[in-house]
Amino acid sequence: MAEGQEIRARKNVDLTSLGRSLTRRAGSRCELCDSAGVPLSPVEVPPYPEEPDADHAVLLCRRCREGATGRKLDGADWRFLERAAWSDVPAVQVIAVLLARRLRGSGVGWAREILDSLYLAPEVEHWLRSAT
Ligand SMILES: [Zn+2]
Repeated sequence: MAEGQEIRARKNVDLTSLGRSLTRRAGSRCELCDSAGVPLSPVEVPPYPEEPDADHAVLLCRRCREGATGRKLDGADWRFLERAAWSDVPAVQVIAVLLARRLRGSGVGWAREILDSLYLAPEVEHWLRSAT
C-alpha cells in the first residue's frame, strides 16, 4: 500500500444501510476471517466512492478491522487471508490482497505464496492498481 494511503472506516456518514446490505452478503460473519457471533462493522476499501457503497466495502470483526485500518499489521496469524484472497466478492479479494502484500513486505513467506498463486480478474487487478 502506498505511503499515506490507509484503509479507513468512513466517519460522518450514516453506515446503517451499508451495514445492513453487508450483513446480508456476509451472512453475519467477518468477511476476512469468517468469525461469527462477534461485533462486525463496515470498512470501506479504497479508492473511496463518493457515497458509501456495499460493493466497495467489507464487513469485518474488530481484529481484522484493526489490522486493515491500522498502520501496523500483527503478522501472528493472518493465514485466513489465503481463503479470503479467493473470495468471489471483489471488495473482499482486494482487501485480502492489500493485507497479504503488506505481510509479504514484512517477509511473511506464506503471504508471498498466496500472491504468487492467486488469479485475479482484470477488474480486480484494475481496482488494486487504483487502490495503491
Ligand atoms: Zn475477522
